[in-house]
Amino acid sequence: MPLIDANAGAPLERVAVLLPLPLAGPYDYAVPDDLDLKPGELVIVPLGGHERPGIVWGKASGEVAEEKLKRVAARIDCPPFSAELRRFVDWVAAYNLAPPGAVLRMCLSVSAALEPPRPRTGYRLAGPPPARLSQARQRVLELLAEGPARTQRDLMETAGVGAGVIRALLEAGTLAGVPLPEAPAFGLPDPAHARPVLSPSQAAAAAEIGARLRAGGFSCTLIEGVTGAGKTEVYFEAIAAMLALGRQVLVLLPEIALSAQWLERFERRFGVRPAEWHSDVRQSDRRRAWRAVMQGSARVVVGARSALFLPFRDLGLVIVDEEHDASFKQEDGVCYHARDMAVVRASLAGIPILLASATPSLETRANVDAGRYGRVLLGERHGAAPMPAIEVTDLRRTPPMAGRWIAPPAEALLRATLAAGEQAMLFLNRRGYAPLTLCGACGHRLQCPNCTAWLVEHRFSGRLQCHHCGYAAAPPASCPACGAEGRLKPCGPGVERLEEEARALFPAARIAVMASDTLAGPRAVAEMVAAMQAGEIDLLIGTQVMAKGHHFPMLTLVVVVDADLGLAGGDLRAGERTYQLLTQVGGRAGRAERPGRVLLQSYMPEHPVLQALAAGDTERFLGAEMAGRREAGMPPFGRLAALILSGHDGQAVAEAARLLARRAPQVAGMSVLGPAPAPLALLRGRHRYRLLVKAARQVNLQGELGRWLAPIRLPSSVRLQIDIDPQSFM
Ligand code: ADP
Ligand code: ZN
Repeated sequence: MPLIDANAGAPLERVAVLLPLPLAGPYDYAVPDDLDLKPGELVIVPLGGHERPGIVWGKASGEVAEEKLKRVAARIDCPPFSAELRRFVDWVAAYNLAPPGAVLRMCLSVSAALEPPRPRTGYRLAGPPPARLSQARQRVLELLAEGPARTQRDLMETAGVGAGVIRALLEAGTLAGVPLPEAPAFGLPDPAHARPVLSPSQAAAAAEIGARLRAGGFSCTLIEGVTGAGKTEVYFEAIAAMLALGRQVLVLLPEIALSAQWLERFERRFGVRPAEWHSDVRQSDRRRAWRAVMQGSARVVVGARSALFLPFRDLGLVIVDEEHDASFKQEDGVCYHARDMAVVRASLAGIPILLASATPSLETRANVDAGRYGRVLLGERHGAAPMPAIEVTDLRRTPPMAGRWIAPPAEALLRATLAAGEQAMLFLNRRGYAPLTLCGACGHRLQCPNCTAWLVEHRFSGRLQCHHCGYAAAPPASCPACGAEGRLKPCGPGVERLEEEARALFPAARIAVMASDTLAGPRAVAEMVAAMQAGEIDLLIGTQVMAKGHHFPMLTLVVVVDADLGLAGGDLRAGERTYQLLTQVGGRAGRAERPGRVLLQSYMPEHPVLQALAAGDTERFLGAEMAGRREAGMPPFGRLAALILSGHDGQAVAEAARLLARRAPQVAGMSVLGPAPAPLALLRGRHRYRLLVKAARQVNLQGELGRWLAPIRLPSSVRLQIDIDPQSFM
């Protein structure tokens, strides 16, 4: 339909609208006379023949010719996006070199939430009962006589009647339909519901944090303390303080698997469950949560990193638990680090943020050392439980038997622990039965056809699987290379193979395996955790899903089957990550009255990470790690960005990578390494090359990258991904 403008000649009022699409920036639109639009409002605009939702981003650029300008179709009836959230979107986009619309898409991830909720109809008594009053009809009338209008579903379930009964009563004029208000989505957490008595060190920490909250404005505080020190209880006090002020709180957790225990604990403390936000939440619940967050009725939201992009009405506090956790880094779509971006959001909103960890990241420590972040320390474990004793066994001196992984010292300790009626845990961060299958005749290794990766045998599912792309196949009967039959053999252990070994060693023990692929979702994790707490499991074998957060009072022994595993890759953070993970795993032991023990099996017990763990000397380890990073100009003292090129045509990718390298700018304090084929040179059928940009802190890294990359046109078959502050170097 052509636009007929009544005020032809008068300048149209124009606005810039950002669409949740990976476009270069906002687009200009004309505002119809009957609309008065303010920045942040949600609108429907035409784009490429479709109507799409968008956000009024500000004044129009004015670069679009009058006759080409399209008009805003409608305003969506919804509270506007705050200035703080809009600045945040722009900031995240600029920092991570992502299109702002791609960031906005994370804020508008449930488009159904933009539609007004479907009106619900309730039924109430409206006239005399019908002549024929069956028992079913009688039950409906009794229910409605007692109270307010109820939905049809509610009536059917509570009165135990079919839809026909209600229809008949309606037709008889006994019942009438009335519109019901939108059901409140979330209960109001009560800060005084079950206030704990804090230990003196918790009380001191809570008081210090409370003073920072009352001071107002932005501040970032690290809550540091060993696992079990009571950090959660301390930040619950901060949540209580914010709730008393009527403001909203966002809590980011790294692993949704641990949220079941966290949610229960929250409910015990505050009387209701918080709103949840992560990929396992059903679409209808996401819609409800999104609206409640926007309207301000969801007071506390707990979620994975994507919760950071929710349109809070009045966010007063952000908390990032396990702030060191690698899963806060998103590596597909828009690459960003949720912990770092959370600090940015808090700073733009002028509100406090708390980071909690037993093993803070070096980045956070450096910020504490520089005085940018505050730090409160919780010294000892809550209650009487001392920290577990950590020992390293030298596998060179007491190796396990061939084809076995539990060495004699570990076996003896496991036997003693089980005999004492206590629980033990075997930790191995490897899913499946065996990480490699090898032909005994020709040495051929079974590899993924789409990735530079070995296929991992999973006996539980009877498949060979690629852990990178999801490729799966039945194990072949003969070697695909030489045809030899019955010569394929598993190499190395995964948790399933460890289970086989443990069952042979301890036939009477009740053994369970906990790995992300053997458990179907958070509920299965929660059930296994409950079984462990109820003492129904003697020996738990698992990967990192069991390492985090769980509280097992009867667990007194943790054996780390291969403490060297994480150190092997040797990337920038290998030492730091291994230290964090093993501290985390070891922290499961001895959480109640009985003291815990941790045994690390290693072929290199002299490694500084293992030595520091055994000595419990975090400070020395971190000091050495910091010094090394400072000397090498590596994060947190220098900055990194990875450029990852990928495509199905390997030649084209290699050429594009060389082109980027040739055009690399000469900037003092900045160097470009590569290109080189990525360690994962083939991933999901795409060939991959990497360049690594290393820069001193004073270099404007994003600015330089932008100037370098903007003019380069890559073939459409080649994708360039920019990863600022990369965590993975694969
Ligand atoms: P962290 O978060 O540092 O690992 P938690 O907050 O989970 O430690 O506390 C460890 C255990 O101690 C939990 O089971 C928790 O319920 C209990 N706990 C901590 N503080 C208190 C307290 N003040 N009163 C009672 N129990 C507490
Ligand atoms: Zn693969």
